[in-house]
Amino acid sequence: ERTRLARLKESATRTLDGTEIQLHANIESPKDLPAVRAVGADGIGLYRTEFLFTERADRPSEAEQFEAYREVVRGMKGKPVTIRTFDLGADKDFDLSDERRAPANPALGLRGIRYCLAEPAFFLTQLRAILRAAACGPVKILLPMVMHASEIDRARQLIAQARSELVAEGVKVPEQIPVGAMIEVPAAAIALPMIARRVDFLSIGTNDLIQYTLAIDRQDDAVAELYDPLHPAVLRLLAGILSFAARIDLPVSLCGELAGDPDYAWLLAALGLREFSMHPERLLEVRQRLLYANLDELAPKAQRLVKLDEPQKIREAFARFND
Ligand code: PEP
Ligand code: MG
Repeated sequence: ERTRLARLKESATRTLDGTEIQLHANIESPKDLPAVRAVGADGIGLYRTEFLFTERADRPSEAEQFEAYREVVRGMKGKPVTIRTFDLGADKDFDLSDERRAPANPALGLRGIRYCLAEPAFFLTQLRAILRAAACGPVKILLPMVMHASEIDRARQLIAQARSELVAEGVKVPEQIPVGAMIEVPAAAIALPMIARRVDFLSIGTNDLIQYTLAIDRQDDAVAELYDPLHPAVLRLLAGILSFAARIDLPVSLCGELAGDPDYAWLLAALGLREFSMHPERLLEVRQRLLYANLDELAPKAQRLVKLDEPQKIREAFARFND
């Protein structure tokens, strides 16, 4: 089975009906690059930069960040790299020696883009490091935990500021850099036009989107059984995001764990997903599934499935879907 899958590492991901699908990898460090190359990923869809904080108490400097980002960009040899700005706070338990850590509800607190906007001087070190690395290859900036227009507007101002500082210092930076938003807070999914008109691409974070939609702590074993991607509310949000993005021609990726679950590959593609990003270990299995998908047949079935509202009916339809 392993060797059969290994043969797929050189192939493009084209479904039976001829649709091209991009399969990207999620990484946490430049050390993950060999695993990414081993499966022939089309790019990095999610670089979780907060892992630069692992096993240290202080903040990584701009120079350290630049080294790490450049290593990833160079290592991908011209393939696109989506760098997500620090998603600190909540479950990502890094010691910032900051009295604002340890809130009662960390998942609802100062995390993701909220944290970075509360610490603009620190955020600028990251934006400068990303822009510098972007001189070495195609880079996109992805903002986590976005739920309000003002967060994107402010982040874009800081990106512009980082850029003009670097230009003034004579540092080479690209003219334009695509900026995207994670769709992982239900508010962002529901008020999608407000977010969409401010960004160049979207990336759906199902890990958090499911957590916040169902009010299920993704870390709490006591409620783990209730964590259900097939809940009709989750399916409706996913279908809604994908159809809206298709209508306005906005690129959309999905980088939560769901993207790496082979059992969901057909459903997600049939709902319009054309870019998956996942742990590299899952990539070849997902590719294999997609090679046998006929989206002309599956698309209407998927639309019927997401309109169902009884869990048992959804489960039956989902089981038949993958037959
Ligand atoms: C997500 O929420 O789905 C996601 C990809 O981000 P993270 O798992 O890093 O919160
Ligand atoms: Mg998330």
